[in-house]
Amino acid sequence: MVDRRQDSSSVPGSPSFYATTPIYYVNAKPHLGHAYTTIVGDALCRWHRLLGDDVHFLTGTDEHGLKIQQAADAAGMPPQQFADSIAPLFADAWERLDIRYDDFIRTTEDRHRRGVQKLLQACYDNGDIEVDTYRGLYCVPCEAYYVEDDLENGNCPIHKKPVDHVEEENYFFRLSRYGDRLLQWYADHPGAIVPDYRMNEVIGFIKQGLLDFSISRTSFSWGIPLPWDDKHITYVWFDALSNYITALGYGDPESQDPESLFHRRWPVNYHLIGKDIVRFHCVYWPAMLMSAGIEPPAGWAVGGWLLVGGEKMSKTTGNVVNPLDLVDENNPEGVGVDGFRYYVLAETPYGADGDFTYEGLVGRYNADLANNLGNLLSRVATVVGKKCDGVGPKPSPDSPLTAAAKNAVEETISRWADVQPSRALEATWQLIRATNAYLETNEPWKAEPGPAVDTVMGDALEALRIVAILASPAIPRTAQAVWERIGMVEGGQARVDDRRVPVDVAWGQYPGGVNVVKGDPLFPRRNIS
Ligand SMILES: [Zn+2]
Repeated sequence: MVDRRQDSSSVPGSPSFYATTPIYYVNAKPHLGHAYTTIVGDALCRWHRLLGDDVHFLTGTDEHGLKIQQAADAAGMPPQQFADSIAPLFADAWERLDIRYDDFIRTTEDRHRRGVQKLLQACYDNGDIEVDTYRGLYCVPCEAYYVEDDLENGNCPIHKKPVDHVEEENYFFRLSRYGDRLLQWYADHPGAIVPDYRMNEVIGFIKQGLLDFSISRTSFSWGIPLPWDDKHITYVWFDALSNYITALGYGDPESQDPESLFHRRWPVNYHLIGKDIVRFHCVYWPAMLMSAGIEPPAGWAVGGWLLVGGEKMSKTTGNVVNPLDLVDENNPEGVGVDGFRYYVLAETPYGADGDFTYEGLVGRYNADLANNLGNLLSRVATVVGKKCDGVGPKPSPDSPLTAAAKNAVEETISRWADVQPSRALEATWQLIRATNAYLETNEPWKAEPGPAVDTVMGDALEALRIVAILASPAIPRTAQAVWERIGMVEGGQARVDDRRVPVDVAWGQYPGGVNVVKGDPLFPRRNIS
């Protein structure tokens, strides 16, 4: 596995921004659902790097539990070997989707085991973990218990298959003691969950009354033993959720040091999660942390599902979309990494469910990338080539585009602050549309070379410079390509993602006097095949 750990946390005085994806269960290869949350997290972190924050982005894999033990048995492998065969597929997928993470945690690592046991012991010592008999309805593929009301015709609502009746002695976490404390905490932190309607669901759930939940099993062995009773294996939630702190070194003695990663990074700014795991992340997890004397997360950003044909994608229903097929350069039906990233970020407001279709993917690609951004760059480079000897002129300080640029910048900043990438991109694209309209009004391609054409082209180049910065979190390769073609490297700024918002997106910084390169179309139009 490629080790991309690069805690870039040595930026003195910069605010820390720590974000996480869920850790992905290694019983399946990376699919669209995994890619969706991870791309949103990556783009959000890239945005915060532009803001000058000291960013730490964590992802990883969840490798314990009955389901993995069963899958390993079926494959005729020890479970560790099975996990070792799947985990790199996630790291490779993130590499190919340009996910820039700082750490990748695997729950089979020692640092994780140490941290899980420390967290369990802290809750146990606080009297919140006690032994009891569990009787319940259990779905093995979900690794989750259900109550009658959750079931559909007696079946798991996700897998549409019968659940098992299970009775065993378990340790329980006394979640029922935390209802009032959680409600008080949420009342004190009103913006903690975005979008806000997801917050309302969480509050409603807590108000219904919380049940203790089981935290151990004796029915399988593939996992982390409880530190005080090693017949019991830690059940999924303590094992999985604690990755967010174990990756920061919570299990190590030096985690109390104010200079430690844990001390500097916790609480997390955002856990990016899908709506199906809200209850565990927004109710169980903060209660577990409170019990251990650790501050709850500062924020959660809850996404909906990208449905395929109206259904949640799953191995069982067979409607799995492999994102790597769609970004494969050799696939004539592919749209490239940035075409795919742009689609998943722009198509669906974060929080709502979206419906993934190939027609939608190609439609977005053609409309926003080929026709709007690609066309703007191409016509600017063509006109500069023909009318300005290929040298980009300076923008005008009082261009009619200044207002559109200012609005785009302000709106993009505010939408990213709400974790709404689709709206942030919509705001950025308003500047692209305004610039295309400005060119159509002025028709520089019809005019004689001279100061009037120079002014229009300088303004358009400045708009492209601003767009490249604002769009770089979503489409990093394309943004860099635009940056290079408009001559910014020659202008002394090698990397678009080294720029800062808002200082570098203020109007008027295109240097002029640099070579503009036309090149091949960034986004050749695609036909629906
Ligand atoms: Zn299920």
